[in-house]
Order: sequence, then structure tokens, then C-alpha cells
Amino acid sequence: MLDRLLGRSRAAPIDPRLWQRVADALPFLAHLDGAGLQLLKQRCERFLAEKQFSGAAGFEVDDEARVGIAIQACLPVLHLGLSAYRDFVEIVVYPDRFVAPRRTIDDAGVVHEYDDELAGEAMEGGPVVLSWPDADPSAQCPGYNVVIHEFAHKLDMADGAADGAPPLPAALRPRWSATMTGAYEDFCARLDAVEAAIPRHVDPESPQADAWFERLPLDPYAATDPGEFFAVAAEAFFTDPRRLKGHYPRLYALFADYFGQDPVRQAPAGKDPAGQNPATRSRPAAG
Ligand SMILES: [Zn+2]
Repeated sequence: MLDRLLGRSRAAPIDPRLWQRVADALPFLAHLDGAGLQLLKQRCERFLAEKQFSGAAGFEVDDEARVGIAIQACLPVLHLGLSAYRDFVEIVVYPDRFVAPRRTIDDAGVVHEYDDELAGEAMEGGPVVLSWPDADPSAQCPGYNVVIHEFAHKLDMADGAADGAPPLPAALRPRWSATMTGAYEDFCARLDAVEAAIPRHVDPESPQADAWFERLPLDPYAATDPGEFFAVAAEAFFTDPRRLKGHYPRLYALFADYFGQDPVRQAPAGKDPAGQNPATRSRPAAG
């Protein structure tokens, strides 16, 4: 009754077998205890009641896909609450990576038009768009997660453009700014050093160059701007936490306070400690 008065749709329970199957496929829920998993399930049920899924290009969004996306989208807001996602309703899912036309004007005033192949995109005030093969829980590897990436942008956009600073409690603001700026500048300097170390005969865009970029603590895409740094670092925080904590302990501690979670604490031991190379995967441009 209250739901109807408030215009909310009622949250339906997720089938326990479906929930278990999807949760078991995700390797990065190990830090959650029984109460944490129960809260995550409640968040997902509310999320599924509030959001609308649309399939694009003939994709049919079934319950498996809805729950698979919901669980990854709700993990970052487990303790922040779903109100962080209140500025949009729609989630569009493609059967594969999709193409977005781009138009930029350079410093000389020349207009450049080109197509980007995307695994995901979060539009300011609009939908989150995802490629299902990239969002599929069974296809995840440490350090990369397009759902967490795009929903981190949504957190960031809750107070305007994605600038790497989501709405924060006053007590976290000075520490956020100093820690994020320090880590971002350090990462950009590391990327510059790696690019300078690649021999001239190796094309930096080719797979041959991967051996150099794998020395970096995060995907090079993090150097794009502070908004992308936050989204890529959030992916790492949840899916490759030991590595992030090893390289950027202050950033890790800041995220642990912000997200109210400590993914290293019960993550399986011996997996991707800092300093080892992450699984290599090419990252398509993401919004
Ligand atoms: Zn992005």
C-alpha cells in the first residue's frame, strides 16, 4: 500500500537458485558475509523494481541478464544506498559491443568525426548502456568490470559531470581531493614513463606493447581524465583489490571508507598480489 501511495513498484524476490548461480559466477563477492550478501540481494530486488531494462539490436534481456547486471551495479552502493542512482531509470543492453558516433573540435578548431566501439557508456542524466558479453558475470577477470565502471560514473554524475568526485560526506572531502589528485598524477607519470620505455620499433597500439603496459597498476585508460581514473580505480577496488592496495594504499583506504567495504579482507589469498601482472584484456573505449 505504501509503495502504491509513493508511486513505487513493489520489489519482487529474486529466485534463490538464479541468485545463487549468478553470485557463484562472480569471483569478487568473497569479502561479503551472510548479512552483506543478504543486503546485496535486497538492494538488487529494489534495483530491479526501480530500473527498466531494454534490449537493443535484437537482444532479449532475460532474468539471468537482469540479475547479472543488478548484482554488479548494486555492489558499489551496498552501503551508499540506491538513491545514488536516482537520476536515471533505463539500462540498455546490446548483444555485443556497440558503436557510438563522436564529434570533437581540436585546439585549431578542426572538427573530427569518428566512431567509438564501446563496451559500456553512462550518459549524464540518461541511461547506462552495456554490451552483454562484457557485462556477463561469467566473463569477468581481475581489474576489469564494465558494469562497476559505468555505475561508478553514475555515482560521480550524481552531482553533475563525471569529474572523479562523487557527492561526499564533508569529512571525506579534503582527503578525497588530496588522495585522488596524488594518485592520478602518479599514475599519469607512470604511464608517461612506460610509453617512453617502449622501443621505437614497437607500435604502442599493438599487442606487442602489452608487456610494457602490464607494468602499470591500473589500465592505461585511467589516465584519460580524473573521471575515468575514479571509474577504473573503482573497478580495481572491487575486482583486483590486493593489487590496488599494494600500489595505492591511501587510495584503497579512502575507497574502503567511501564504499564502506574492505574487499581485501576476505578475498581469496594468493590472487594477483601487487606487483604481478593482471590478466591482459584489451579495453574498448568506454564512456
Ligand atoms: Zn568511463
